[in-house]
Amino acid sequence: DGLTALDRVVTGCRACPRLVAWREETARTKRRAYLDWDYWARPIPGFGPPDAPLVLVGLAPAAHGANRTGRIFTGDPSGDLLYAALHRIGLTNRPESVRHGDGLQLHGVRITDPVRCAPPDNRPTTAERDTCRPWIVRELELMRPTVRTVVALGGFAWQALLPVITAAGWELPRPRPVFGHGAHLVLPAGDGGPPLELYGCYHVSPRNTNTGRLTAAMLHDLLRTAARSAGL
Ligand code: SF4
Repeated sequence: DGLTALDRVVTGCRACPRLVAWREETARTKRRAYLDWDYWARPIPGFGPPDAPLVLVGLAPAAHGANRTGRIFTGDPSGDLLYAALHRIGLTNRPESVRHGDGLQLHGVRITDPVRCAPPDNRPTTAERDTCRPWIVRELELMRPTVRTVVALGGFAWQALLPVITAAGWELPRPRPVFGHGAHLVLPAGDGGPPLELYGCYHVSPRNTNTGRLTAAMLHDLLRTAARSAGL
């Protein structure tokens, strides 16, 4: 289908010179614990069924996480927390995501990033975010027949998503909605189709979880609410 083709094509993108250099450099230098890994070192496609009613949007791959394993949120502490929470609400068949071929399956949820390549310090530039935007716009356009709810994991995802949402066919209120944990909007479709529900959730990064800003219980509650709004 179209989304499978998109997932394949995006992995060949080299549009951001700084990110191409960084994703490849981290693959050469590696981290001591992963010396025997052959890093993926390419853009990370979305993961999950193409007809999912729920979409989770993160920031960008981690240099030694998804940039190593080739699967989004796979092989880093952020992903450990996220997949455990998804498993608790019945959206995965396993509680952890280790590597390709580990048998993990997502049910009714797809996970993607607005920036597909690992950035230094986990900080893409505004130009890199904008350069990458067409990939996620296309992804959401292809999912329009089934997608009902999107969760922005963090303020970066929220800001990145607003123009994506309008480009993919839904309408935003003015002034532009502000990110917060638990922020919730119902966005009408410009063509009279089903609305899109948008939720804000603190990012699942160790910086947020170690400080207690985001607890496993908060994450669980928010994802369960979002999943219910998507009919899951
Ligand atoms: Fe391409 Fe996006 Fe990676 Fe930039 S961040 S090289 S646009 S896939």
